[in-house]
Amino acid sequence: MKLSEIGEFGLIGRFAGKFKSLIPQGITGIGDDCAILPVGDGNDLVITTDMLVEDIHFTKSMISPIDLGHKSLAVNLSDIASMGAIPVGSFLSIAIPDSYDVQYLDELMEGYYQLSEELQVPLLGGDTTRSGNKLVLNVCAIGKIKSGRAKLRASARSGDIIAVTGYLGDSAAGLKALVENFPRSSNVDWLIKCHQRANAHVAEGAWLGGIEHVNAMMDISDGIASDLMHILVASSKAACINLDRLPVSPQLKETSALHGLNTIKLATSGGEDYCLLVTILEDEFDSVAKKFQEEFNRPLYPVGNILEGSPGISWMSDGKRVDSPGRGYDHFV
Ligand code: ADP
Ligand code: MG
Repeated sequence: MKLSEIGEFGLIGRFAGKFKSLIPQGITGIGDDCAILPVGDGNDLVITTDMLVEDIHFTKSMISPIDLGHKSLAVNLSDIASMGAIPVGSFLSIAIPDSYDVQYLDELMEGYYQLSEELQVPLLGGDTTRSGNKLVLNVCAIGKIKSGRAKLRASARSGDIIAVTGYLGDSAAGLKALVENFPRSSNVDWLIKCHQRANAHVAEGAWLGGIEHVNAMMDISDGIASDLMHILVASSKAACINLDRLPVSPQLKETSALHGLNTIKLATSGGEDYCLLVTILEDEFDSVAKKFQEEFNRPLYPVGNILEGSPGISWMSDGKRVDSPGRGYDHFV
């Protein structure tokens, strides 16, 4: 059987079940953005690992070493944020081809340090090895949250408002601008920056983690079309998304008009947005959104509702049901 027939998540599903019986009670394993381990002092640790592979996740000519180092940590801290947790440390493993020089690696570590310093998240260890001809970066991040408070993918409830914490599609548009060599303008530069300098919503995640009425949460790494499905499958719920409400930056709107980009496709399946996808108790949404605005000086964007039903998304626009705008990113399909 070819991997493309089952995809990334089909593959994980083939072995995840087998390991379940080895997991002691109280520990949450494969299936959420992080694993959850109680540590007995009133806190749980949340742990995640994410890998960046040259020519799969990044191309050397399209991202500076400093941005790449920053991104390798940011994508992991995004998973910590998605549990509602506070990051406490990271581990970094690097496999380096001979062609990479020390200056490149110093700059990479400078980018990693900048984010570590900004968020006061120390690097605690890792591994360094030689590689064939591709650079591989694997980060493991650890976070902390009060026992039992982690926000799961499996806790969405019928009627919940689905919301996102930031603009969608900018990073994917920035990558497209780089690959297709768009003429530079302030809008294009801004989109490229969004792609190169991943902005994990670490403060937002920790804040939402403290709000009781936030039911489910995850980060958007593969695009809302694919990521929301993870919440729906884990929670055994359906959803309705209003495409007209997806938050799109003015920079993406203007660039889309100029270059004929499919804004909706970028916003739903572009990926690498690294903002948070939350479901919030319907009656409490306005109050949470108001407090979010006061705290972060920008809106929490409502984009749809959780519904009773088998996992699936109904897409709406202009009050009418429309076709699915496409699936999110899968490594093998
Ligand atoms: P995320 O995008 O939030 O990092 P993924 O979609 O990569 O999560 O992974 C989904 C789930 O599958 C996570 O719980 C992750 O820990 C788990 N997972 C992915 N690959 C593996 C693997 N090779 N071995 C064990 N668990 C895995
Ligand atoms: Mg995630």
